[in-house]
Amino acid sequence: MLVALLMGLTYVPQIVGAEGVRLARAGSETAGAALPKPAAWQPSRGRECRNRGRYKRFCAGPRRVAAPRGAAGRLGQQLGLGSRKAASQLLLGSPDPEWVAHAPPAAAPGLAWPVDEGKFWRGFGNVRRGPKRKQGHKGIDVGATESSPIRAVQSGIVAYADNELTGYGNVLMVIHADGSVALYAHCKAIFVFAGQTVERGQIVALVGHTGIARGTHLHFEYRRRGRPRDPLPLFTEPPQSAFAAIPHRRRNRAESPARSPRSQVAAKSAAATSRSSHVATQ
Ligand SMILES: [Zn+2]
Repeated sequence: MLVALLMGLTYVPQIVGAEGVRLARAGSETAGAALPKPAAWQPSRGRECRNRGRYKRFCAGPRRVAAPRGAAGRLGQQLGLGSRKAASQLLLGSPDPEWVAHAPPAAAPGLAWPVDEGKFWRGFGNVRRGPKRKQGHKGIDVGATESSPIRAVQSGIVAYADNELTGYGNVLMVIHADGSVALYAHCKAIFVFAGQTVERGQIVALVGHTGIARGTHLHFEYRRRGRPRDPLPLFTEPPQSAFAAIPHRRRNRAESPARSPRSQVAAKSAAATSRSSHVATQ
């Protein structure tokens, strides 16, 4: 993550218009689902692939994030949200009290499950295999087909929606009223921008595999004072289907030379018995 903090350029949000994001029925990306349609997207910089090193196969893009607009966009800019600096602050420590003050109150206790049709792939903590075994997994992975809608787990204010954090791809960060932060990574698209408020259960993004991700999934983190916490016990009604056994996948031997016999999942969830060979790096 240090690399993420040191590399890249400062992002200056663009305020491109007066209207906010409007809701529309869109059939282009997920047939039949009502998806938010941003009035404008940020310019794409192509696939933004790495050209050397261990992760040279991976790409931070294509960038597909809503462009800030209107009053919410201006608020985000006034608050200093949307910048790489703001994202880094949230990864390392607490949000500014002013940011938290702009978050709408929690709609309900606990967290809503973020991907309707998603499958729990990997838990929080020391569940990695291979060279990164000793680095704890900072969130949970929920596998889903590409373009599956991602819902906000709780109401909050968008703090960051872009792809400048190395490894995370298109990543969304939302601050909740209690000061906690939700992070949604590897998205194919993000429909909301910094300064906007989102409601619990609202569709905010689509599942993808941008950034350092093996397989199409949502990498979800839940942070307090910059420290990642295990979100699994906080979900109020995770669908039973999310924890059903999933088929064995082809393993990438270069990345996972050894397979530990121990469960890959942080012990607490008996249902979480995924034997997936998925090896995401975030
Ligand atoms: Zn992950």
